[in-house]
This record gives sequence, structure tokens and C-alpha cells, in this order.
Amino acid sequence: MLVVKIGGGESINLEACCADAAELVKARQRLVLVHGGSHQTNVLSQALGHPARFATSVSGYQSRYTDRRTLEIFCMAYAGQVNKRVVELLQARGVNALGLSGADGRLWEGERKAAIRIIEDGKKKILRDDYTGRVERVNSALLELLLGAGYLPVLCPPAISYQGELINVDGDRAAAATAAALKAEALILLTGAPGLLREFPDESTLIPHIPARQVEEFMPFAQGRMKKKVMGASEALAGGVRQVIFADGRIERPISRALEGAGTIIS
Ligand code: ADP
Repeated sequence: MLVVKIGGGESINLEACCADAAELVKARQRLVLVHGGSHQTNVLSQALGHPARFATSVSGYQSRYTDRRTLEIFCMAYAGQVNKRVVELLQARGVNALGLSGADGRLWEGERKAAIRIIEDGKKKILRDDYTGRVERVNSALLELLLGAGYLPVLCPPAISYQGELINVDGDRAAAATAAALKAEALILLTGAPGLLREFPDESTLIPHIPARQVEEFMPFAQGRMKKKVMGASEALAGGVRQVIFADGRIERPISRALEGAGTIIS
């Protein structure tokens, strides 16, 4: 079993990711896809006059401030535009892809964070009315059911809270939880970089291998959104996934190249 997260950045080559996924499925690779949608969400929120607002938590992680309107736009971009585009690209290649958000069938469940503590303009603030959380439970039975019936699950945020509210969750960490729940051999995170770079954005500083027990030591190299990916990697490994690969999602055959050893392999 392989879990592949396709990043939501502007530079990601969705066509190449889906073409490669289709080839792997045809070669009988068991696969679950997860995708992002951050770029599309930014474009859509701008167009709808509700520009994205990012918050930095007191622990230094960046996330999207998700009020009710943002949550609606977030769903349009992730579960609508991007999810259906991925399904379309796979269906066009003869793969019976089935798109689901984490809320459908309680696929990804977690607790909604009622209030988050952030730093804005150097000041500490508390944000309420924020629909965010973290995936704590994965409905792996639903995924097994779909895989067993020959469907390729294509998953994306939002997730669902225990109270039944939609929550914005980090896609990388949700992919990590999914990989752990399915006892996947590998989790591949495709992004707009060739892997984890020692000196971002200098691509010649790619870190080819990180021993699993040292992954936390590499956190200082990751900036911005990359931090969540390193955190996801560490969670997947802790959950029993043998290897996590950060690989380039801008190139042809991105998944196969990662399996052949390109990118940053954490094992
Ligand atoms: P997603 O692809 O899931 O939407 P992002 O594109 O927002 O995620 O986050 C990954 C991006 O983080 C990379 O494409 C890269 O531009 C940036 N980045 C920051 N620090 C690093 C680093 N040390 N190594 C590689 N990429 C980094």
C-alpha cells in the first residue's frame, strides 16, 4: 500500500502526477491519493473578495485562518475544483477514481480547536470562530471497502469534527494519519521542491536521506509550510510507516521517480 499526497502549490504538475498514478494502479499497485489545494484556495478567495489570512501559532507554525466564509471557499477549491480535476484526469486514463473529502463517511475525524493562539504583528491574540483541527481517527474500513471494490480513493480536506462540523486540517498530516491507518509501506509527499533542502531555495542542497530517528533534527531546515510536512513525516513513521519520501511534484513520473530513489528519503 502506498499513500501519495499531491501538493497544492502552483508549480505542481497535476497531469503528470495523475498519469503516473494511473500507470501504477494499472500495474496493480495498491494506492490512495491525497491532494492539497492551497494555491487554488488563494486564487478563489481573492476572486470572491475574501482574501486568505494566514496566522502564525505561538509555536511558530503557519496556518490558514478559517472563518465560516473561508471554510466555504476552502470546500469549493479542495472538494470541488481540485478534487474533481484529479478525478477527471484519472478517469480519462481509465482508472475508476472516487473523490471524497475527509468529512464524507467520517473518513477523517478529529477535534475542532475552539480557539487558537496566534501571533499577529508581534502581538499575541486568540482567534475564535476558527474551523480548524487535526485528524485523530481514520475510517480505514471505508478505504478498504473502496479499494476492495476496485476504486482509487482521492482524498482531501476538510475533515469532520466529533460534533459533526467541517474542519480545515493539514493535508500532509492527514495523509500521514491515513498511511499509518492503512499500514502503508510508504508515504510520498509531492511538492514544489526536489525534496527537503538544506538551504531553501537552493536546489543543489537537497538532503537525500534522513534516518527515521533523526527526523526532528531536520526541522530547522524546513521553512513555512514545509514544517508541517516534516511533522507529518515524523507522525507517519511513529505510526509504523516504513518510509516517507519528499519528492518533486513538478516533473514527469513524479511518483515512480520517488520510488526509484529521487528526493529526500526518510527511513
Ligand atoms: P503543498 O505542496 O502541500 O501545498 P507547499 O507548497 O505550501 O505545500 O509547501 C512546500 C513548499 O515549501 C515547497 O514547495 C518549498 O517551496 C517550500 N520550502 C520551504 N522550506 C523548504 C526546504 N527546506 N526544502 C524544500 N522546500 C522548502
